[in-house]
Amino acid sequence: MEIGCERCYGNGYLVEKRGNLAVSRICGCVTGCSECGGRGVNIVKDKKGYTYISACRVCGVIRRNVNLYNLAGIPAKYSHVLQVDTFQPKHETHKYALKYAKEFVQMYPQKRGFLLMGKAGLGKTHLAIGAISELTLKYGVRCLFKDFFFLLSELKEAYSLGTPENEVLLPLIETEVLVIDELGKGKTNEWELNILDQLISKRYNASKTTLITTNYIARDFVTSQEEYEDREILEERVGARIASRLYEMCEFIYMEGRDFRKAGKRVLKPPKL
Ligand SMILES: [Zn+2]
Ligand SMILES: [Zn+2]
Repeated sequence: MEIGCERCYGNGYLVEKRGNLAVSRICGCVTGCSECGGRGVNIVKDKKGYTYISACRVCGVIRRNVNLYNLAGIPAKYSHVLQVDTFQPKHETHKYALKYAKEFVQMYPQKRGFLLMGKAGLGKTHLAIGAISELTLKYGVRCLFKDFFFLLSELKEAYSLGTPENEVLLPLIETEVLVIDELGKGKTNEWELNILDQLISKRYNASKTTLITTNYIARDFVTSQEEYEDREILEERVGARIASRLYEMCEFIYMEGRDFRKAGKRVLKPPKL
């Protein structure tokens, strides 16, 4: 790895879009590692004369972390979000969300996960992706990103094919950090909520970290009657049991503000025919 490499700025990896996913690859300055000849491993001889294969001490960590990033399933449109820091707060509540997410990463695994509530377009997913990008690429933590809606359809498909329950849920339970994006989105039936309950309970029992984003608001955060009527309540979407587990697993953070993707954009009326 070259400190002054112009392509990767000394990180040793590059991230690009490939299909639907953000994919990381080793930079050319690492491929030609002088320690291992670019193989990523070295043959080591110990004192007793045994030889074994060991990860290269120069580039082995970068290779492992790049691999972890690629296994996390980060959507292509977030390929530029490699750090929590890239999030720009637009409201006081956003500053707290940013502060918490930063500390969560820096102190991992000491701080519990977070659940970000608020309207679409405030950067909730950005913060969650920033956290898992850093955890994989810098700290070598196994993470997984799942859109709630896709998660349910994947589970349904697997069950319909007769895949055993454990096998379907296992990767979701085993990953150290799981992001569930847009929790509660779409119509959910009893069966789906039951699966979700199993997943959350198993992660809770195994003390695994879960990060959640949702457009719904937890009942305790509703401040006025007006807001109560205006907004859908998280507990009503996912049930009181799941919500109360999440309360224990996550720091609940409410993000206020307008959709910044829409802010400043004029709404064009369709032309009259
Ligand atoms: Zn480079
Ligand atoms: Zn090497």
